[in-house]
Amino acid sequence: MKAFTYQRADTTAQAAAAAVKPGAKIIAGGTNLLDLMKLQVETPSTLVDINRLPLDKIEETSDGGLRVGALVRNSDLAADPRVRQRYGVLSRALLAGASAQLRNKATTGGNLLQRTRCYYFYDVTKPCNKRSPGSGCAALAGFNRIHAILGTSDHCIATHPSDMAVAMRALDAKVETVNGEGEARVIPIAEFYRLPGKTPEIETSLKSGEIITAVTLPPPPPGVHVYRKVRDRASYAFALV
Ligand SMILES: Cc1cc2nc3c(=O)[nH]c(=O)nc-3n(C[C@H](O)[C@H](O)[C@H](O)COP(=O)(O)OP(=O)(O)OC[C@H]3O[C@@H](n4cnc5c(N)ncnc54)[C@H](O)[C@@H]3O)c2cc1C
Ligand code: SF4
Repeated sequence: MKAFTYQRADTTAQAAAAAVKPGAKIIAGGTNLLDLMKLQVETPSTLVDINRLPLDKIEETSDGGLRVGALVRNSDLAADPRVRQRYGVLSRALLAGASAQLRNKATTGGNLLQRTRCYYFYDVTKPCNKRSPGSGCAALAGFNRIHAILGTSDHCIATHPSDMAVAMRALDAKVETVNGEGEARVIPIAEFYRLPGKTPEIETSLKSGEIITAVTLPPPPPGVHVYRKVRDRASYAFALV
């Protein structure tokens, strides 16, 4: 692992101001970022720890929806009685992801921004346009059983691995952000993720240093919600579909 500076943010403004600096990276639960740092896929010069920020609440909104803070842990979100009763698809998707131990650390913001599970992205000896733009895509002619069928390009065929994000997309959630100047934005999740196209290294519509503060869920759709995840094992495996 390469040496880095560690900084704890006490306010959201402080975190956003620090995150905009070149080489800085936000750390929340760390369950994806630390793995990527050990492999030197991510090599931040500064880690900005946001775990002290007051972003861990789930609140009712005036229109009958819920506002989920960026630091709400995956396990807490899945277990919240309002989520279980009104947003069954979200609770089920969360519980279909990772393991209990990981869900206790993983956060709402970090889950949305976790990186792909493409094997070649994690292997720095292989070409990968997402990790190293212009180097090629080893997955195109490689082992690509877990890769995408729809929305691919000649430059990248990776999928986004988040179960939670799929449920949030089905629910038409909105992602709330703030930047280093303190400007807030609300991004519909349908516009949050980008297809790979010619620039697979650009995965979302977030600008440099912009941090996620919350996700808002609109009033829930009626009826019974189902989340069906096709995978190699019944638990602790990423989705094939
Ligand atoms: C063995 C294993 C199995 C897993 N299985 C599944 C699975 O089946 N399904 C699934 O969906 N997931 C799975 N995961 C992934 C897991 O859900 C993610 O690692 C986790 O949700 C990431 O959240 P985190 O808070 O730990 O993020 P971190 O690792 O802290 O951060 C991830 C990224 O998000 C950025 N970030 C974090 N918070 C913010 C913020 N508020 N604003 C801006 N940027 C931010 C970081 O800079 C980093 O780039 C698995 C992980 C492991 C290790
Ligand atoms: S599919 Fe995408 S992430 Fe995987 S090797 Fe190709 S460019 Fe990299």
